[in-house]
Amino acid sequence: MGNASTKDESIILIIRYLKKSINRLPLYKNMSTIKINVNRLNCGDIYMNDQKTIFMKHAIEEAEKALEINEVPVGAIIVKNGEIIAKAFNLRETDQIATHHAEIIAINKACEKLNTWRLVGCELYVTLEPCVMCAGALILSRIDKVYFGAYDPKSGSIESVTKLLDIDKFNHIVAFEGGILEDECSQLLKKFFKNLRSKKKIDKS
Ligand SMILES: [Zn+2]
Repeated sequence: MGNASTKDESIILIIRYLKKSINRLPLYKNMSTIKINVNRLNCGDIYMNDQKTIFMKHAIEEAEKALEINEVPVGAIIVKNGEIIAKAFNLRETDQIATHHAEIIAINKACEKLNTWRLVGCELYVTLEPCVMCAGALILSRIDKVYFGAYDPKSGSIESVTKLLDIDKFNHIVAFEGGILEDECSQLLKKFFKNLRSKKKIDKS
């Protein structure tokens, strides 16, 4: 009997607690919902920023390879479903081919790997704002989005010289986002051009 009454008392206490909680619900319901959403948003942003940073670092690694062989240090990678499917760096001087920019080589490698010229679902990360040729190649290869690091006031064709990807008359729209690890990307370029200038000075003297 003692046990039964303890049980009853417990049940009554639980019911009282639930009733109180339910009474408080309208007050807290919205607050807790907002809290959860804010947390989710923050986590998402951090996750996205991490992803972008990680992938841009891979592109920077490619740019460093170009720097080692005295090419303008531009590196590019292509990502599909969170996986890097192509890596490339600028080889214009080495190959003496005008179109051998990092983005074009990366696009060609990705097409070969996926066995299609349609790079749907792919994103390209490049350390420098693409030129008009590369921005055009992004549209033609149906890439989803391009992330770039440094801005190029002399030939950048996404935001600087022209805004090719803003033209909505093309049959494919490429999303873009610039300034990802901008400082790191432009430091590499500055280093290259500084070396080039000092080399020219030595050659002249
Ligand atoms: Zn280019």
